[in-house]
Amino acid sequence: MEHKLWIDGQWQDTQGGSMMKIEDPTTGKIIAEVIDASRADVDRAVQAAKIAFYDGRWSKKSPGERSKLMWKLADLIEARSEEIAKLESENTGKPYAFVSLGGDIPFAVDNLRFFAGAARDTSGSHAGEFMPGYTSMYRREPVGVVGQIAPWNYPFMMAVWKIGPALAAGCTIVLKPAPGTPLTTLLLADLIKESGIPDGVVNIITGGNDTGQALVEHPDVRMISLTGSTGTGKKIMKTAADTLKRVHLELGGKAPFIVFDDADVDLIAAKASIAATMNTGQDCTAATRLYVAKGRTKEIQEAVAEAMKGIKIGLPFEDGVQMGPLISGIQRERVTGFVDRAKAQGAKILTGGGIPKAFSGGYYFEPTVITNVQQDWEIVQNEVFGPVITVQEFDDEAAATHLANDIQYGLAASVFTKDIGRAMRLSSALEFGTVWINDHLPLTSETPHGGFKQSGFGKDLSAEAIGDYQVTKHVMIAQ
Ligand code: NAD
Repeated sequence: MEHKLWIDGQWQDTQGGSMMKIEDPTTGKIIAEVIDASRADVDRAVQAAKIAFYDGRWSKKSPGERSKLMWKLADLIEARSEEIAKLESENTGKPYAFVSLGGDIPFAVDNLRFFAGAARDTSGSHAGEFMPGYTSMYRREPVGVVGQIAPWNYPFMMAVWKIGPALAAGCTIVLKPAPGTPLTTLLLADLIKESGIPDGVVNIITGGNDTGQALVEHPDVRMISLTGSTGTGKKIMKTAADTLKRVHLELGGKAPFIVFDDADVDLIAAKASIAATMNTGQDCTAATRLYVAKGRTKEIQEAVAEAMKGIKIGLPFEDGVQMGPLISGIQRERVTGFVDRAKAQGAKILTGGGIPKAFSGGYYFEPTVITNVQQDWEIVQNEVFGPVITVQEFDDEAAATHLANDIQYGLAASVFTKDIGRAMRLSSALEFGTVWINDHLPLTSETPHGGFKQSGFGKDLSAEAIGDYQVTKHVMIAQ
């Protein structure tokens, strides 16, 4: 099936773009073709969003009206959630059970409903007399046209996480999904139309990195929100500097999973194996660095390896499947390269480390536990984005904190201990946007999600995200 671009509430042909093939990663077969949008296409989408912003069809609606339409969109997504989940599984190879009930699509619906509610929250508005004879008021206004650029790991959920706060703030949008996983985001277009959100408010253009680059360069785009790798974030920030755009960057991660000597081995094995293999490890918050208190290392690493061996690999629609393939052949080569180089440096593969024999057709990779690694090796320092976890041991709390923080990333971390005081000290000392105690992975629409250090800045989820899409104006009235 061939798809078009969603511009100004209509499916439109490209002007000078080409076509890109979309694969099913469980087989490598082509399942669709989409447009690799040209610079002219990007400009048309931005112009549609600009007109829609300045004529006030969205930004001047009352918060209540915006909320109602966003809520309607959430209902429409919910009503079609099985179809969306099926398409998402076909395009990404994710287990259907993780996308459908209790998974990505219900989270996207909840997220939209959260922002539909938050759109009506007026806290932050302010009026008062700060100089005799004058009244001041603060207006929270939408930034304007925003370009939103999404990754391939949670295509539909990321698209919705992006548009929710921007719509709540009153912005208009040009959204670009990742080149390999645009299908469910394109499906969203029809639902946006049906919801009554006016034409031109959300425009969806497909394309690769050059399409994204054109969006970042466009002078009429006031802000770029990216979820993607740290390298892409740096490029975007440099490009955005030319037009002094605001940037909102949700970037890579390399989460530590810290186990103290009082932790329960069964809990650790269960949590670490899931947190390392969820979404085939292609998760910015995945547990990737297991640090264990000296004395417990052998027992813990063996229990985690056993649990990793038990993760059921398979096709998305099989019962009980916990892990699908990596997203592409390129990604599998990347992951294999990391593991092979670690082995060459002297690392030991406790389990996994290669392509599962029963699944040589798609882009599968075994759940992998690696020991005998050094803190400064690339397997510990860089984002692998596959089902791979390294194990190291530490002497004491200070050493654990140092090892966990000794990394360019700062997105998420977890600590497993029964000692409340230690948990509280670590929650302060760890330089990460999220710190879990005795768990790893859960997030809700209310909880701010975003990085420290080279994991970026700005928040997705939570009412804080709306503020990222607003500017404060001071109005001063002489009495
Ligand atoms: P990526 O950086 O390769 O691509 C992300 C998006 O940016 C794609 O749509 C791509 O086309 C676009 N892009 C690439 N170069 C561009 C440029 N120069 N200008 C404009 N757009 C450009 O990332 P990916 O491989 O799709 O996704 C995986 C990455 O995303 C991982 O690093 C992961 O940690 C990160 N991620 C972060 C979060 C978070 O919340 N922090 C969530 C999910 C994924």
